[in-house]
Amino acid sequence: MSHVMNTYARQPVAFVRGQGVWLYDESGKPYLDALAGIAVNTLGHNHPRLVRALTEQIGRIIHSSNLFQIPLQEQAADRIAAITGLDEVFFCNSGLEANEAAIKVARKYGHDRGVAEPAIIVMEKAFHGRSLATLSATGSRKVQAGFEPLVQGFVRVPLNDLEAVRQVAANNKNVVAVFIEPIQGEGGINVSRLDYLRGLKEICDANDWLFMSDEVQCGLGRTGKWFVYQHAGIQPDVVPLAKGLASGVPVGCCVVGNRAKGVFKPGNHGSTFGGNPLAMCAVVTTLDTVKDEGLLENAVKVGDAIRNGLAAALAGVEGVVEVRGMGMMIGVELERPCGELVKMGLDAGLVCNVTADNVIRLLPALVMNGVEGRQVVERLAPLVKEFLARGAAQPRLAAAR
Ligand SMILES: *Cc1c(COP(=O)(O)O)cnc(C)c1O
Repeated sequence: MSHVMNTYARQPVAFVRGQGVWLYDESGKPYLDALAGIAVNTLGHNHPRLVRALTEQIGRIIHSSNLFQIPLQEQAADRIAAITGLDEVFFCNSGLEANEAAIKVARKYGHDRGVAEPAIIVMEKAFHGRSLATLSATGSRKVQAGFEPLVQGFVRVPLNDLEAVRQVAANNKNVVAVFIEPIQGEGGINVSRLDYLRGLKEICDANDWLFMSDEVQCGLGRTGKWFVYQHAGIQPDVVPLAKGLASGVPVGCCVVGNRAKGVFKPGNHGSTFGGNPLAMCAVVTTLDTVKDEGLLENAVKVGDAIRNGLAAALAGVEGVVEVRGMGMMIGVELERPCGELVKMGLDAGLVCNVTADNVIRLLPALVMNGVEGRQVVERLAPLVKEFLARGAAQPRLAAAR
C-alpha cells in the first residue's frame, strides 16, 4: 500500500527520463509530451544549458536565507522587472503562494486607503490555488467544497462581462482590486477578449483599483508575448507568476508596480525558501534561454500550427465544440466528458490532459519544434475521433438491446 496521500487520481505510468519534448517510462517507451508538467517545463526536459547551470550552482550554494543578501535573487528580479514592466518582485515557491501574496497586497492597499473590509472582484471558472484564500478566490465549487468557511472579501462576476463589473463598481465601495486569470487554464482554456481586458483596466483606473493578472499558467512566453496583458497593451499593478518560471524547479513570485508599488513594507510578508540561490539560478537561466533561443516566436509559430492543425483535422466532426487558445496554450472542447482520452493518449504515446471535464488541454514546452507539433496533431486528432465514435455507438447499442 502506498503511503503517499491519496489526493491525485494518477495515471498508471511513471516517467523516469526526459529529453526535449520526449518522456520515457520504466520500459523505455517514448511519449510525446504536450503537457510539460502542466506548463512547467518551459525548456522541455534535460535542457543542457539548465542542467549545466543548476549542476554548477548546487556545487556552489543551494540555500542561504533571506536574512542575507542573495545576488542571484537581485539578478532574477531585474530580469522579471524588465519583462513585466513592473518594479518589485517577491519570491515564493508556488502559484498559490504568489496569489496569496497578491491578495494580501490588495488588502493592504485597501487598508492603507482607509477601506476596513476590502473586497476583490474575481471571475467565474477562475483557478487561483488551493490555500484557503486562493480557493476562496477560485470560481469552482469542486475546489471549495468541504473547506468552508471560505475567506471573505471576494465578489464574483462572469468572465468577459464588463457590465457586471460596472454594476459592482456602482454598488460596492469596498472593492479595491480586480483579480483575473486572463486565459483560464484549469477552467477550460477560456480566453479573455482583449477589448474586455482594456475595458477592465479602464474601470480599475477610474476607481483606483488594482488590476491583478494571474499569469501563473498563461504567462512567461506561452502565448507568444511574455504576458497575456501585453497582447492587450495594458499594464497591471500586480502579476503573480509560477509554473513555467524556472522550468521545473519550484518557484513562484508576485510582481508589483504602478499603484501597488511600495505597498508591502519590511515585516508584511516573507518566505523561508523563497528566492534561494538554486531556485534563482533556474529562473535566470530559464528566462535567458527563452530570450536567446527565440522561444516567444517559436511559441506562436508552433502553437498556432498545432491549433490550426487540430481545427482542420477535427472540422465537422460531431461532438467537437471548439478548438481554441493562444500560442502554446490550447484547448479542444468536446460535447461530453472525455477524461478517458488521457489514458488513450498515453497508450498512443502522447501526454496531454483533460480539464473542466470536457476540454482536452495542451501546454507544450516552448522548445517544441514544428515537426513535433505536427506529430501532436497526428497523434491526438485520430484519438478524439475514435473517442467520439465510441460514444456515438453507445446509445445505438443500448437501443438495440
Ligand atoms: C496552477 C495555478 C495556480 C496554483 O499554482 P500551484 O503552484 O499549484 O499552487 C494558480 N493560478 C493559476 C492560474 C494556475 O494555473
